[in-house]
Amino acid sequence: MNTVENIKDAYDVVIVGAGPAGLECAKNLGGSNLDVLIVEKNKVPGEKVCAGGVTFNDLAYIPKEILNFPLNNLHLKYKKTNVILSSPEGLISSVDRVKLACYQIDYLKKFKNIQLLTGVRVTRIISNFLLELSPGRQIKFKFLVGADGSVSVVRRYLRLPANKLGITFQYTLHTLPKKLELFQVFLDDNLFGSGYLWIFPHQDYTLVGCGSDLKIINPKILKSNFKKWLRLHKFNISEAKLKSAFINYDYRGYKFDNIFLIGDSAGLASGITGKGIYPAFLSGTQAARDIIQEHHSQNLIKEWLEKKEKQEKYMYFLKNPALRKFFLSSGIKLLSNKKIQKKGIQAFT
Ligand SMILES: Cc1cc2nc3c(=O)[nH]c(=O)nc-3n(C[C@H](O)[C@H](O)[C@H](O)COP(=O)(O)OP(=O)(O)OC[C@H]3O[C@@H](n4cnc5c(N)ncnc54)[C@H](O)[C@@H]3O)c2cc1C
Repeated sequence: MNTVENIKDAYDVVIVGAGPAGLECAKNLGGSNLDVLIVEKNKVPGEKVCAGGVTFNDLAYIPKEILNFPLNNLHLKYKKTNVILSSPEGLISSVDRVKLACYQIDYLKKFKNIQLLTGVRVTRIISNFLLELSPGRQIKFKFLVGADGSVSVVRRYLRLPANKLGITFQYTLHTLPKKLELFQVFLDDNLFGSGYLWIFPHQDYTLVGCGSDLKIINPKILKSNFKKWLRLHKFNISEAKLKSAFINYDYRGYKFDNIFLIGDSAGLASGITGKGIYPAFLSGTQAARDIIQEHHSQNLIKEWLEKKEKQEKYMYFLKNPALRKFFLSSGIKLLSNKKIQKKGIQAFT
């Protein structure tokens, strides 16, 4: 096991954060001639507030065997209208984030050039070649990869603001009536602003959460509306702990000389759906390719950005309460049409 005492003083690449982005980046640097250190503040990688929802494009990175269920339908509800979104292969499943991290870390074990240090925080980036770990230990690097999520120490060092943020609240529930074991998303412009409430079943628990753009609804109101909705729908949350997290979707570049930002630290999640695991994988791969100078015809981040930007154009309708009501109520009706639904699924997953 790696400890602060037995790691080296200098690495070719230091990756801050062992989420899907950081671990995927490490995987793509595995077997190269670069010495790589991943630093993760949590003792158990993967313990992250996330619904763990995955769709078919995630399967390029996540094996079906670790999903909780085969891909399923998604029940999308707006007030009294209910549309079942489906596709021939199925649409949505869930993955336990700790299980996902274990899977990614297991894969890294075969690479001698990758070291993982857990339970240690990167406290400060001192310069473009030096950083500090929590016990005051300094490490030199040639390349630094910020894979440290929405509140990123690497992004802060680069002085990049994060003005586009989603705020989320989530409960992990261990007991639910059986009929709720479906993937469900509830839209309600009055309660959840531009966002939505989700019920995502996992193997031994169900994640129930809600999120919205921070500028559209006050977090205190969102939290109170969330609890109100749960009480109304007879959810027992008396024993459950409410967790909250931001989602940064303010993309301002990923490559800054020898410093990279990937996943949420780069603001790559979708501002509309909150989907961020897939772009975390894509950007981890792309940053590694850039570091080892492996040239491919497509840039994976640019490809994702085209989709993300198209999705976020709808933000215009969601910002204004009257337009939002119209957009959501007419949007859900349009989705009952199978052809439109197919296009919607392609655009938003
Ligand atoms: C409530 C909620 C629900 C979501 N649901 C979904 C969903 O259903 N599907 C989906 O695709 N996306 C979802 N997302 C988004 C998804 O969780 C993120 O986009 C994804 O986790 C990004 O991966 P990442 O590797 O960039 O960052 P993270 O997964 O956040 O990993 C960052 C890692 O860095 C570590 N770290 C942070 N700071 C430091 C430091 N200073 N030193 C050392 N380590 C550090 C953290 O502990 C963490 O392990 C959701 C997000 C939230 C908040």
